[in-house]
Amino acid sequence: MINCDLINFQLDTVLKTTSKRTLANFLIYNFLRSELKKQIMEEKSNCAQVPISFLLCSSIDFFMQILLNIFPISALRIFARSHFDKRKMKMASEMAEDIRNSLIEIIQKSTWLHEKTKMNAIQKVKMMNMKIGHLKELEIPGELDLFHDSIISSRIDSSFYHLEKISEKFEIEQFMDFVASHLPILSNNDYFEAHAFYQSWKNRLVVNVPFLDDPFFDPTYPKYAKIANFGEAIAHEMGYGFDSEGRKRDETGKKNDWWTSEDSLEYEKRAQCFMNQHNGLHLDGNLTKSTKIDEMIADMIGVAVAWNAYNKIDFTNEPKIIGFEDYHMDKMFFRLTALNWCGADQGKSKVFGVNGVFSNMKTFAKAFNCPVGSPMNPEKKCELL
Ligand SMILES: [Zn+2]
Repeated sequence: MINCDLINFQLDTVLKTTSKRTLANFLIYNFLRSELKKQIMEEKSNCAQVPISFLLCSSIDFFMQILLNIFPISALRIFARSHFDKRKMKMASEMAEDIRNSLIEIIQKSTWLHEKTKMNAIQKVKMMNMKIGHLKELEIPGELDLFHDSIISSRIDSSFYHLEKISEKFEIEQFMDFVASHLPILSNNDYFEAHAFYQSWKNRLVVNVPFLDDPFFDPTYPKYAKIANFGEAIAHEMGYGFDSEGRKRDETGKKNDWWTSEDSLEYEKRAQCFMNQHNGLHLDGNLTKSTKIDEMIADMIGVAVAWNAYNKIDFTNEPKIIGFEDYHMDKMFFRLTALNWCGADQGKSKVFGVNGVFSNMKTFAKAFNCPVGSPMNPEKKCELL
């Protein structure tokens, strides 16, 4: 049994009976040890994931990583300003708008959603806040300086240690600014990763700068290729706004049931159809039920919306892909879309992303001439919207 009085008494005795020099050494030692541990942990997580690799990291990489960790937003801004083709940002934003309109159209055309549910769903898509690439706010002249005001006005005349403490304070300020909604994105390294993500609690879609680059996106790609990969990925992320959890939030991201009870029941029935299909495919069951179903819903919406956008392309001036000059364009769309699920670490459940999704699409069966009843054209199909 722990007796607090006893511990206090002992600490009190220790403090009183130990020499000041020993106590000071003990405190300094603990402080340094925790600081060093922080540095090593940081270095370890920044270098390759081999346990001893932190010893092999070059010092330039190391300091570069410290800088990126402390100033991710500023680094992103500088990168975008100096090394990024502005046309990409514009083109990607325009394509994201096309995808938004394509999703709205699909909701409008839904044969089972009631008017009230449709209206609310469309409102949610219209209000989806899209952050494509870096922060436009920081492009305003002088904004970057203003952003670093607390650092610039600090006394930067002393040691590396002092500088590090100022930056730590800056990191905390940025975090608190994000919590207080003064800063639109959380200052962290996630923005250096080549991906897009949807934040359901804010009804917001974020596309990172590195995602707007080869092999995901390039201004020179034919439009159908851009829709099949970038467009599909954006539509997939938007789809999370209508997965089993996302659909329970409104256009502001707040929990709010905007479905008619009849439509809610029908949605659950349709979602269950995917679940049964997935179980029938005997795919790996590592994911929880809701993660699986949400991924499938995002997949279905992603491809359906991209297909709808693809059908609006004016093909007169669209270049052909070398080696596929005579290949049927619709088939090409599905092939290019399927590439989105390619990757070294894709689990078996990703198989649904291609075979499961495509086998539910009449348009796929038509493009590839699959006979009714064949694996990729089953009689019983699942459909969401
Ligand atoms: Zn996903």
